[in-house]
Amino acid sequence: MCNRCEGFSERIKIAHPYEYFNMIEQVKEVLNEGTMEIIQGNCDFFSLQKGQPWPDEVLYHLFKCTSCNRKFELSVETYHGSGGAWDVLKL
Ligand SMILES: [Zn+2]
Repeated sequence: MCNRCEGFSERIKIAHPYEYFNMIEQVKEVLNEGTMEIIQGNCDFFSLQKGQPWPDEVLYHLFKCTSCNRKFELSVETYHGSGGAWDVLKL
């Protein structure tokens, strides 16, 4: 872990879609700043927006800190609404 990704190092449980969208907005910022980059995902992260239909029943994206290579996962289950999480991948 490094200074740049320290603020994202805690697991955050997502119980409601609005929490997911709040998380998306935060992550979009660090992606734009170049602090993190997307390394994997099953839909276009930047096209996820409030009010749009979900592109899939389960959405997931993996991110990497461009400074220390630590990996993070953001996933959410949209079909049953059981929620999701932001999490640090423990390798
Ligand atoms: Zn880092």
